[in-house]
Amino acid sequence: MSETIPHWLTKQADINPNQTAIELENGETYTFKQLKEASQCFARKLAALNVHEGTHVGILSGNSIEMIVAIHALSYLGAVGVLLNVRLSRPELEFQLKDANVSIVLTSDKYKMSASQIQVSMVKSFSEINVLQEKYNIPLKTELNLEDVFTVIYTSGTTGFPKGVLHTYGNHWWSAIGSALNLGLNKDDKWLIPLPIFHVSGLSTSIKSLIYGMPIYVLEKFDVKKVHDAIMSKGITIVSVVTVMVQKLLNELGNNRYPNTLRCMLLGGGPAPKPLLEKAKEKGIPVFQSYGMTETSSQIVTLSPQDALKKLGSAGKALFPAQLRIDGGNEDSIGEIIVKGPMVTKGYYRNEEANKKSFHNGWLRTGDMGYLDDDGFLYVVDRRKDLIISGGENIYPSEIESVLSGMEQIKEVGVTGLADETWGQVPIAFVVKIKDVTASEVFSFLRQRLAKYKIPKEIHFVEELPRNASNKLVRSKLLELRR
Ligand code: ATP
Ligand code: MG
Repeated sequence: MSETIPHWLTKQADINPNQTAIELENGETYTFKQLKEASQCFARKLAALNVHEGTHVGILSGNSIEMIVAIHALSYLGAVGVLLNVRLSRPELEFQLKDANVSIVLTSDKYKMSASQIQVSMVKSFSEINVLQEKYNIPLKTELNLEDVFTVIYTSGTTGFPKGVLHTYGNHWWSAIGSALNLGLNKDDKWLIPLPIFHVSGLSTSIKSLIYGMPIYVLEKFDVKKVHDAIMSKGITIVSVVTVMVQKLLNELGNNRYPNTLRCMLLGGGPAPKPLLEKAKEKGIPVFQSYGMTETSSQIVTLSPQDALKKLGSAGKALFPAQLRIDGGNEDSIGEIIVKGPMVTKGYYRNEEANKKSFHNGWLRTGDMGYLDDDGFLYVVDRRKDLIISGGENIYPSEIESVLSGMEQIKEVGVTGLADETWGQVPIAFVVKIKDVTASEVFSFLRQRLAKYKIPKEIHFVEELPRNASNKLVRSKLLELRR
């Protein structure tokens, strides 16, 4: 038997019509009632283009009210949103559109030109749709079936080809519930979204807004000054960030402190170097580490407030509705992280091979390595694919990267394995500096902090590191920078 709930936006608009749903950087605000009306109106216009139940609709846009309205509109039609990263190249976009069986792409005006060059049956900007006549004789959804697919988001493609992750309404629902049971809900909560809504973190927050009746403050894109000012003066209580944003925010903060209104800076998406977490702790910033992936509809493991300080560096425990295990732990108890829960995807769209590899008895193999401490807190170590085995010892590149990132002359660093006749593999490092530093200074810094076998055999100074459209380090491309 499938479970249904009342349509979440209709319901919230009914309970809290005049509550603010969305605040924009230009000062505009939308109530839940206005958001519902705009979304239903947009749905009827989309219906005029024959978008209907099950249609796969691409969305290519930076964060905006039009984008949010378009996404909610799809839910009124039972159509599926395929959210596209605006930084993808044309071939990358075409791959995702074809793979996801998308027939129509909606874009903001900014991306209309580039989108019209991609191979897809129809591209329409939000403003082109807004001038269409509404089609009134189609029934809009009044209920959501938790089993139905709502969105498809591709993984970042850090370890291989991106995979289309299916998110059901139920996945999003349980993600919101799991987060609320951990972070709690306050009446005055206002969640800042500086992360793209085309990623699962941004999308999930815009859905949490409907389920919690909570305003979100939406930035078009990350801008350190705007995030800083919003936290300082807009009553932001929670903000979602990735590591590089914390670095920039700390610089912007200088010797100041954030107001007490900020109760959570939710950090996810990638490894968080310990020196950075320590700096944030000194400044009294309530950083909550979290762990998750596109497949888990945002965070699935989060450090709860009461443990945040004593378990620095840990990603915490699985959210209430979720489970986590370490599979095949070696002698240091490090093994693959496997997870299970109602926020975990049912699978990748039309990708049997990846589905077979990743899902076993309801558990998702994450491809990430980690361990649990004696109290059951998760420490994420690295991706399994990036593990370096040198003379029989396991070396995790992120440990070396984390140490090097503590050197003030270094802006960013990537470590990978190089084939070696004697050792099988040895770690080598690629460093982008901000201040002058020599390789021998880097080596002596490392010798004081790492076991000998973990010290990179080569240090290469480079201009920039290879990153994908999600700005993630692609370690498999580091060797191409070796001179
Ligand atoms: P692909 O699956 O295509 O290779 P990806 O894994 O980078 O790309 P995402 O879903 O965007 O795609 O990222 C999820 C990954 O980010 C996790 O599997 C993990 O490797 C990394 N990650 C997330 N949170 C953390 C964390 N707290 N510590 C370390 N790594 C993290
Ligand atoms: Mg992945």
